[in-house]
Amino acid sequence: MIRVFQLFCKLNFQIVSAESLYNKFMAEIDPKKHSCPWCNTKNPDWKHHADYERWLISFEGGVVVPYRLEISRYKCPSCGHTHAILPESIIPYQCYSFLFIIAVMRDYYTRALTVADICTKYNISVSTLYSWKELFLRHKKLWLGLLEDAYTSSLDFLDSFYDTNFRYDLEEFFQLVRISFLQGASQMKKAHPAPG
Ligand SMILES: [Zn+2]
Repeated sequence: MIRVFQLFCKLNFQIVSAESLYNKFMAEIDPKKHSCPWCNTKNPDWKHHADYERWLISFEGGVVVPYRLEISRYKCPSCGHTHAILPESIIPYQCYSFLFIIAVMRDYYTRALTVADICTKYNISVSTLYSWKELFLRHKKLWLGLLEDAYTSSLDFLDSFYDTNFRYDLEEFFQLVRISFLQGASQMKKAHPAPG
């Protein structure tokens, strides 16, 4: 899987639909700029291999919006492995968008709504909300380190994602932990035998 982190810093993503954000990403992406995640070949002459469809569930204008996106897989000519290209708005092996989960967490930490109200608003189960909370807190600590984590409230951290001067680097997290922010551990195991 080739993770590309470039959009959030350029766009005010709150006003753009997840689908148009993804289409913009695909229109601008140059696969040749990215090394092969399997064999590390620099700037391989990627060949388009296949497309597949996947769900991306977004929260836009106060409603849950499901999209069917077409994801492209590219084949590395050096090692023959194929890789999907995913922008940061998509969490690997997770159909809910990155910003969907961030929005749920933000509602949870502002305490303006009850857990039941949040689950109704986003059409998710209580267990899903708590599994995201557990994952969020674990990754926040990994990202910030013990000391900064202790001094940074969850709400401040979440708010920073909406700030145009976004100060946390999703790519840095990915390089550090080797999975994407908010990518679940069970999904990581599934991903491990055949890096997508
Ligand atoms: Zn390769």
